[in-house]
Amino acid sequence: PVDRVTMKEALERLSAFLDGDGTRAIYTPNAEIMMDALRDPQLADILRNADMLVPDGAGVVLASKILGRKLPERVPGFDLVKNSFSLCPTRRIRYFLLGGRPGVAEQAAINILKDHPGIEIAGCRHGYFSEEEEKDIIRDINSSRADILLVALGAPKQEKWIHRNRDNLNVKVCIGVGGSLDIFAGKTKLAPEFFRK
Ligand code: UDP
Repeated sequence: PVDRVTMKEALERLSAFLDGDGTRAIYTPNAEIMMDALRDPQLADILRNADMLVPDGAGVVLASKILGRKLPERVPGFDLVKNSFSLCPTRRIRYFLLGGRPGVAEQAAINILKDHPGIEIAGCRHGYFSEEEEKDIIRDINSSRADILLVALGAPKQEKWIHRNRDNLNVKVCIGVGGSLDIFAGKTKLAPEFFRK
């Protein structure tokens, strides 16, 4: 059940989540994640229970057109996160970056802050940890008082991680962001806009 939102509407919802109660989960399924969900009932269930599902990629929008219920536009997770950095000029949103190889979240934080001094990075943590370390990681996220947790563990790991842990998190919003931290860190390049379209 992908939300029929434009990028602008997705940002408005994200903003409302920041002012609301509880911890909201946003996932950004692309065609691969959608296909995985057909074979993985647990993933399908997690996606159905999201607070917002945005169509990450042209394949999902094309499928919606073929099925006769066209989604308004692509809302890629990377762009949603990037646009959120300019969401609240009146207040500094605090982000926690979780995921990527060691050093990637820190480099992403440096690059993001260079371009968006109006936000705060409340903490960073690489994405290669054992189950035993999870308690400490959740404690660190909560004590950072972050508003938004970006989880970059790849799909479907990040969706499952968010689903399993959201009740223990104090953040307002968790977003599964796939390889986005690698892009912010300059380790991977986004495909050119014409190609993404
Ligand atoms: N990753 C991680 N922990 C893991 C597995 C993956 O932090 O146990 C990170 C990996 O370093 C990369 C991201 O998750 O930064 C996955 O990116 P990918 O582009 O494969 O994911 P997708 O966007 O396709 O979901």
